Amino acid sequence: MYSEDFINDDEIFKLLEEGKNAEKNEIREIINKSLQKIRLEPIETAKLLQTEDKELQEEIFAAARKLKERIYGNRIVFFAPLYIGNKCINNCLYCGFRRDNKAIVRKTLTEEELVEQVKILESKGHKRLILVYGEHPFYNADFIANTVKIVYNTKNHNGEIRRVNINAAPMDVEGYRKLKKVGIGTFQIFQETYHHKTYNILHPQNDMKGNYPWRLYGLDRAMQGGIDDVGIGALFGLFDWKFEVMGLLYHAIHLEKTFGVGPHTISFPRIEPAINTEFYDQTKYKVSDEDFKRVVSILRLSVPYTGMILTARETPEVRREIIPLGISQIDAGSKVGIGGYTKDDYIPEKEQFHLGDIRALDTVVNEMCENGHITSFCTACYRSGRTGEDFMDMAKPGLIQKFCVPNGILTFKEYLLDYASEKTRKNGEALINKELEEIGESDPGRRKMIEEKIALLEKGERDIYV
Ligand code: SAM
Ligand code: SF4
Repeated sequence: MYSEDFINDDEIFKLLEEGKNAEKNEIREIINKSLQKIRLEPIETAKLLQTEDKELQEEIFAAARKLKERIYGNRIVFFAPLYIGNKCINNCLYCGFRRDNKAIVRKTLTEEELVEQVKILESKGHKRLILVYGEHPFYNADFIANTVKIVYNTKNHNGEIRRVNINAAPMDVEGYRKLKKVGIGTFQIFQETYHHKTYNILHPQNDMKGNYPWRLYGLDRAMQGGIDDVGIGALFGLFDWKFEVMGLLYHAIHLEKTFGVGPHTISFPRIEPAINTEFYDQTKYKVSDEDFKRVVSILRLSVPYTGMILTARETPEVRREIIPLGISQIDAGSKVGIGGYTKDDYIPEKEQFHLGDIRALDTVVNEMCENGHITSFCTACYRSGRTGEDFMDMAKPGLIQKFCVPNGILTFKEYLLDYASEKTRKNGEALINKELEEIGESDPGRRKMIEEKIALLEKGERDIYV
């Protein structure tokens, strides 16, 4: 099974070589193609990656900002990670949860503890979670399905989780079917590095995770098991960043060709230091902030319709700079330790790695507001069956604006009513009014429709979406 795979290292190196020394006008043509919302071909992405001319790099950044604005507007979707258990049978060299790391306290949330964590997250205003698990036979499909059910069934007086995504080890098709049944949103698997040789060194070959193709095709099996939305990713800092961007593009094209729809999201975590883990200091592939801007903007241009996630691994300063280059989802108020939401304490012995942005959700929401961004907690598409291919069909002609903009405003309003600090509420209300005015100029009917729904929220109704 999977004797060959769709990542050809030699071909990627060849394209990266061919991509060097492209003419200025060629780069500008590629940028223009992308601004027409057309996915790029690998050689085109290779040319963007090899652009060392500062002026052209600035043009790439500017185009990425423009494309993000055109497709996603000023809305950013918020979520929070919830770590369920850190037992792990693998020994990934870079990860704090690796089997041989004795400095880590192993812990799996009990059902009561899980309920407690979810209630805390709900009381802050979260509506979307990503549940994260180490790789261990204990965390099999039945266990994961049960935790998903518990999360959906845990409701506060005015809080509930409406979409649960998963980041866990790859499963077999039967396992994904069980998760489909309990209504998961996206299933995420990061390939970590697409470079075969590096993958085999960093993931000991006797480990479950040592099997590169099993992981690479993990999301194919998810699709076969009925999961419509899948998330790909690479951990930047394991190998050359240009190679990884090419790997992500090839993965997206593979899914597009095989299933008629590409990945729902792309993640590009940068390696972080982890307790008792030397890898971080040793790797020569760490991506600088300046190169990280290139990673994000070139991905934005390469796959215009794929959601892009920036996590709280990054510092507030980096997030401020990177978000406008193409990000559609961020997390905030996050903890990456098991049980981390109970106390606001920092417990390094339970954390997978160290976070860069430890600000509270409300602080980040307020900053978004001040920068003109609507914080969206929207989960409407997936709950209305607009997933996978349907979602992409709708997204492509730009209709996403029709749903995402009103739903972003409505979930933001809900947040302001139920959870926001005084300061955030004031800033948020002003931003919503400004939005409504702008919408009203081009489409008075839509403004009226949104205002009517806002009035219902003010009267106490909740969970209103189009
Ligand atoms: N155990 C599952 C797996 O490996 O696929 C899922 C959970 S794992 C905790 C989630 C992701 O964390 C990994 O895919 C990896 O990309 C990321 N990660 C691991 N070590 C990291 C580090 N030191 N810094 C940043 N991200 C890291
Ligand atoms: Fe385990 Fe995942 Fe960490 Fe690897 S990355 S050690 S599989 S938790």
